[in-house]
Amino acid sequence: MGKYRPIIGLEIHVQLSTKTKLFCSCSADVFDSEPNTHICPVCTGQPGALPVTSEEAIEYAVKAAYALNFEVHEYSRFDRKNYFYPDLPKGYQITQYFYPIATKGYLEIDVDGKKKKVRLRRLHIEEDAGKMIHEGDSMSAKSFVDFNRAGVPLIEIVTEPDIKSPKEARLFLEKLRSIVRYIGVSSGDMEKGALRCDANISVIDEETGKSSNRVEVKNMNSFKFVQRALEYEFERISQAMKNGEEIPQETRGWVTKDKKTISMRSKEEESDYRYFPEPDLPPVILSEEKLKKIRQSLPELPDEKKERFVKDYKLPEYDASVLTADKDLADFYEETVKLTAKPKETSNWFMTELLRMMNEEGIEVKDLKVKPEHFKELFDMMDAGKITKNIAKDVFKEVFKTGKSPSEIVKEKGLEVVADESEIERILKEAIEKNPKAVEQYKNGKKGIMGFFIGQVMRATSGKADPKVVQKIFRKLMGE
Ligand code: ADP
Ligand code: ZN
Ligand code: MG
Repeated sequence: MGKYRPIIGLEIHVQLSTKTKLFCSCSADVFDSEPNTHICPVCTGQPGALPVTSEEAIEYAVKAAYALNFEVHEYSRFDRKNYFYPDLPKGYQITQYFYPIATKGYLEIDVDGKKKKVRLRRLHIEEDAGKMIHEGDSMSAKSFVDFNRAGVPLIEIVTEPDIKSPKEARLFLEKLRSIVRYIGVSSGDMEKGALRCDANISVIDEETGKSSNRVEVKNMNSFKFVQRALEYEFERISQAMKNGEEIPQETRGWVTKDKKTISMRSKEEESDYRYFPEPDLPPVILSEEKLKKIRQSLPELPDEKKERFVKDYKLPEYDASVLTADKDLADFYEETVKLTAKPKETSNWFMTELLRMMNEEGIEVKDLKVKPEHFKELFDMMDAGKITKNIAKDVFKEVFKTGKSPSEIVKEKGLEVVADESEIERILKEAIEKNPKAVEQYKNGKKGIMGFFIGQVMRATSGKADPKVVQKIFRKLMGE
């Protein structure tokens, strides 16, 4: 029996949201477009067509590199990676193999409250390939190719094998997505293929020091599936090691519907691609000045924002990290606090009510009907004792759904607190009369019974009585 531990390294492709493709002026915004409507002689590899490098793509890549703590190089270059596939019209992909634009970065993630650095080996720029579309089955099957995506700019980020669990892999990707969104270089949507991840995993037996071969897993289109696929592989490989079986070094694909991975091919060697420098493109030369300018243009990043939230708003680390994971959410929070002047209470409402409803409804911050003013109004009504906290939660649900103001909803639905103490006293007296046993228990020291009476009043008033007032009156009636 051994003690098995996974070793994981990721290769991530991030689609850059530039206006044009990497080497031609076709629009790079191709998702969901009619097939072959964003193409030209360059991106379909027509004879004689020459590529011209997009400056915007270079800038986006540099931005990402700095945000990920990379060393950015003043000199980098493009190379050809040669292979045949129908979605690759030139017969080679233009990429940066020998001289990547950036090397030696790192990304810090939070693992169970502890900070952990994942070293990044390299970041380089390359073009995307087209997409195959397969229709029908067996005899009538047809395959089509859509070149819209061919030539769309990507950055590839390669980590060192520093990731120690499938969960860490997911945390890493979530943080990476948060950063590329913050700096506006990519939508980071895994479901739309704007962020793609190949995961390498091997397993080490810590007792014997023996390692398995490395397996590369592809085809996961969500963070959850990356984690699941890696959990599956860890289990599969450790099991094989226990049985004394050798697992081959290979590429496997995640099959979502079967919740498992299947073998795709034995891994190709880098030398199979016959890389050589791209003769049609000049090297990428970036002046120190230019690099400095790009570096200075970076906005506040998630980690800095989180620290500022802890310091300025006195929030717990956890609240701050949730609120700053998404820039839009962080901005929305700050606008709201400007009005409410109650950072912690606002955070509580965000963390529980707002985020829960957003998750349930699949709504993003930009689509919210709730406005900062609504929180202010809701808080004011609670402070003034006009509504209870429970009612406020119901009101908030309605604000979330309709975008109507809290005061409007309270008025419409008659939700104002029953402030009339004589009314509460009347209801309590009735309940006391009807429940002599409960009263006796209370008098014999079972003070928890008070909750029962408060509940009676809440039911009679549809939750609109202030529990503190009810308690006060109840004690009075009990002669305390
Ligand atoms: P290759 O040359 O086969 O592509 P690389 O050394 O370039 O291998 O690494 C590719 C990816 O595999 C990197 O993300 C790296 O972190 C990861 N990797 C390297 N060694 C291991 C290992 N022993 N177990 C898991 N992942 C690894
Ligand atoms: Zn084109
Ligand atoms: Mg490699």
